[in-house]
Amino acid sequence: MADSGQGSGYSLFPLVLLLLFWVLFEELLRRSLSLPPWASVPLGLIACGGFFWLVGLAEEAVGHFSGGARTSAAPPPGIKTTEMKIEHIGIATRSIEDALGFWRDALGLEVRHTETVEEQGVNVAMLPAGEPRIELLEPTGPDSPVAKFLEKRGPGIHHVAVRVPDIREALARLKAGGARLIDEEPRAGAGGCLVAFVHPASAGGVLLELVEHAAGAEADTHHER
Ligand code: ZN
Repeated sequence: MADSGQGSGYSLFPLVLLLLFWVLFEELLRRSLSLPPWASVPLGLIACGGFFWLVGLAEEAVGHFSGGARTSAAPPPGIKTTEMKIEHIGIATRSIEDALGFWRDALGLEVRHTETVEEQGVNVAMLPAGEPRIELLEPTGPDSPVAKFLEKRGPGIHHVAVRVPDIREALARLKAGGARLIDEEPRAGAGGCLVAFVHPASAGGVLLELVEHAAGAEADTHHER
């Protein structure tokens, strides 16, 4: 995905690189083909240009090397960022009851919704904090992905969920940009939500959940899958 993505901050680096390679190619041509300098200097520049052009092509083919990361200030055209919001923050805990001692009793948030999601092996408690929610996740058994997370990392932020207007479009765009998706297709969530997870390897070490609300279903019943 070629894009006007390069920020500033490159400045002289490409020029220095170009000069270095120019000198290198010139030297190579002069020595290997015994060319005089009047021929090897321009030919060196041409070879150098060709080399950079190929590198550029290869870079584009690989999808910007870094898994499609962009650094442009503006989002790609057609993205409605105003329709994206933090939907909830998932926090892994060994015991929801213990965690509520802080989030509900000390901080003062209200538990709006609790549920057990069998297939994910989690008990969930949702505590709205303004529009976004704190989602407490407690494993129901040792095989639950959240149990494995707790074993490895301890209690803490497990994932961040972002609400998107069109989850299939968001997944397609992420995939085209080289992002590693855990769910290529959205799964059904409660309250008619569609959800899909993006691998932390593509999201700066954060497990990212995308959520699309069903038309007309505002927030209240969505929960963890
Ligand atoms: Zn979640």
